[in-house]
Amino acid sequence: MGLFSRFAPRLGLTPSLSRATVRRMRPIIVIYGSTGTGKSDLAVELATRYNGEIINADAMQMYKGLPIITNKLTAQEQRGIPHHLLGSIDLGEEPWVVTQFKREAARIISEIRSRGKLPILVGGTSYYLDGLLFEGRVVDDQPAPEGGALNRDELAAKYPILTESPEAMLAKLREVDPVMADKWHPNDARKIRTSLEIYFGTGRRASDIYAEQRSKKESKWASQKHTHSHGLGEVLLFWLYARREALNERLDKRVDRMMQNGLLGETAEVYDYLQQRLAAGETVDRSKGIWQSIGFRQFEPYLAAAKNGVAGPELDKLRQAGTEDTKTATRQYAKYQVRWMTMKTISSLQEEKLLDRLYLLDSTAIERWNTEVLEKGVELTRKFLANEPLPPPAEVSETAREVLAETIERSNRQETPCRKTCDVCQKTLLTEGLWQAHITSRKHQKAVRGARKRQLIPAHAVPSRDLIAVTPDMPREEVTTAIDSP
Ligand SMILES: [Zn+2]
Repeated sequence: MGLFSRFAPRLGLTPSLSRATVRRMRPIIVIYGSTGTGKSDLAVELATRYNGEIINADAMQMYKGLPIITNKLTAQEQRGIPHHLLGSIDLGEEPWVVTQFKREAARIISEIRSRGKLPILVGGTSYYLDGLLFEGRVVDDQPAPEGGALNRDELAAKYPILTESPEAMLAKLREVDPVMADKWHPNDARKIRTSLEIYFGTGRRASDIYAEQRSKKESKWASQKHTHSHGLGEVLLFWLYARREALNERLDKRVDRMMQNGLLGETAEVYDYLQQRLAAGETVDRSKGIWQSIGFRQFEPYLAAAKNGVAGPELDKLRQAGTEDTKTATRQYAKYQVRWMTMKTISSLQEEKLLDRLYLLDSTAIERWNTEVLEKGVELTRKFLANEPLPPPAEVSETAREVLAETIERSNRQETPCRKTCDVCQKTLLTEGLWQAHITSRKHQKAVRGARKRQLIPAHAVPSRDLIAVTPDMPREEVTTAIDSP
């Protein structure tokens, strides 16, 4: 987007990274942050200074073309730095599942290192980054990690109990894996079924697998003390953060700029492509992939009307509505990304003892981007690569001190046991975190919309309406499983 690089000064010395350091230290930089905070720009700045190559971890930017919808850096903005997994899959393809991303990213990371260069991972899609960083996440989230020859449907065909009532499944689970049976709420069919699937799919108890993962992790940490060494190597993490009001304003302006730059043309391309596939009689799962990208969904009514010959003020009105909806969805997405950091990433980092490697850089004011983001990011990276002591993350800025403390506190609070029931979904949640995850899930939102349509509930009775967020880059299934897994 280049919004940030315009401010980039040429910082003096650029110590380049030696092959020996790469071999010995296996360094890796990971950049988290919501949309519009300048992640891609920081990545390029670091790569030019420290001999880096960039790996994209944004599910939408993995799609070919559509530079405006997906906010890709232009070739010029990439400044000759190799960008991997950027624009690499076709429009019709499904977004990668986390295992696929993990495998490819790991392969690319070792390739980059074999060239004596520094891998820099740039987020967007937090569950890709988390999946890569935190071992065990994938096993936690998906059934049948090893004996995984059978998929969900095949398992269900072979073990009909998997399609029975929650009570029946729980009874079976109590028989084969009582530890897991005790963990789940009796109504939570999905988790009960997942535990059973793991048992049937691998021939092992899920509780044993988790216990083994925990003890592996613990022994790893016991033997490596505080080196911050990690399966991936020596990790330095950045979290680009902007205060909400400032970010919202920036995001609104970005949508206006996207409109000027041809957003409508791109959405029309996607729309035509969709119509072609539908006309060819294909079934298109519109709940994921490019069909869920912000900008496309919101302009669909406009595009459909335009195709049907609607014109004049009526069409203008639809375009206006599309613009507003795109702005709203973008803001909600940014909020959702921060929530993910709070609800998921922080606690995983805590568990991996990597929290003191998470540096929040304050991207609130674009005019201070140089001093707050660029210079601090460059200096921290320099120290990291030189193996010099790094400052405590709270000392990087006032914002870092305040926001990190607040976020860590909220992250810890989410484990607080509670018992809240969602009257709309008839679901009981056992921790604050799970409750928050539930009321922001698509399932819940859908139920709320349904109930509203049937006029069963007045708008003000919906639990924490303001927390409801869209999750455009996330396969629907992952929203519920990823957020409330064990
Ligand atoms: Zn609900």
